[in-house]
Amino acid sequence: MIYENASAKINLTLDTLYKREDGYHEVEMIMTTVDLYDRLTLEKRKDKQIVLKVEHLYVPNDNRNLAYKAAKIMMERYNLDSGVTITLDKTIPIAAGLAGGSSDAAATFRGMNRLFELGLSLDTLAEHAAEIGSDISFCVHGKTSLCTGRGEQLKHLPKPPACWVILAKPDISVSTQEVYTALDLSKPHAKIDSKACAEAIENGDYNEMIRHLGNRLEAVTIEMHPIIQTLKDTMMKAGADIAMMSGSGPTVYGLAAKERQAKSVVNALKGCCKEVYMVRMLG
Ligand code: ATP
Repeated sequence: MIYENASAKINLTLDTLYKREDGYHEVEMIMTTVDLYDRLTLEKRKDKQIVLKVEHLYVPNDNRNLAYKAAKIMMERYNLDSGVTITLDKTIPIAAGLAGGSSDAAATFRGMNRLFELGLSLDTLAEHAAEIGSDISFCVHGKTSLCTGRGEQLKHLPKPPACWVILAKPDISVSTQEVYTALDLSKPHAKIDSKACAEAIENGDYNEMIRHLGNRLEAVTIEMHPIIQTLKDTMMKAGADIAMMSGSGPTVYGLAAKERQAKSVVNALKGCCKEVYMVRMLG
């Protein structure tokens, strides 16, 4: 039996460049992981089945689950002679912009590799991961990265300068697909410079990193759910250095260099958001 942690991600930047012929958007974004985890336990079975145990109303326990899909790829690709029971303990909020499902799939790729002693590199696992989702390759490595293509091409970056991350997940779910459908690429928008942000991270320059954070999808999701703007305003008023939506939302994160600053942001959120986490970047 082996254990794997699946950590949530946040987007420091997210820019959508154009819509490709295959229907995906070409993106440029910097993602990093934070210490908010789902926990997975993987055990070999006597038969050749994949059994997924997860007790959550909104998380499927069949082949719709990304962790199941990852296990299936590994079983077929490497002709594994026994199946696997995966027990998934969810902590990462669902449909939140924190890549919970993608991270569970990534942890399954890593876990299957260890359980069956396949000796595959993370790069090989990340290649398999790209077959079932755009963010899963990033999650396989779990390292801060500049991600391009449809998100699966990675340039690893150093860990961002130390700071506190306050996550606020409003009581709504957002479908990534819906947000991309509503995105109007012809609308004017503020420039998002992921390369400048990457350079700031490489230089360990917190203030410069913050200056370049941005998310092209933020305005789209705010239009559907104004609570996101309220959460951003609340965080900024309470002293966050920056507040930004992650992924396609609805989770908003605030960054704070100092612990007492982060605590006052958490306190300020108490009146308007039930699900709040104060965490650290891992990547
Ligand atoms: P992203 O940030 O990559 O867009 P997300 O955090 O917005 O992802 P998820 O929590 O991954 O969204 O879930 C989106 C949908 O995927 C859920 O509604 C659920 O039905 C389905 N799903 C499939 N596998 C999982 C999983 N392992 N955990 C959670 N949801 C899953």
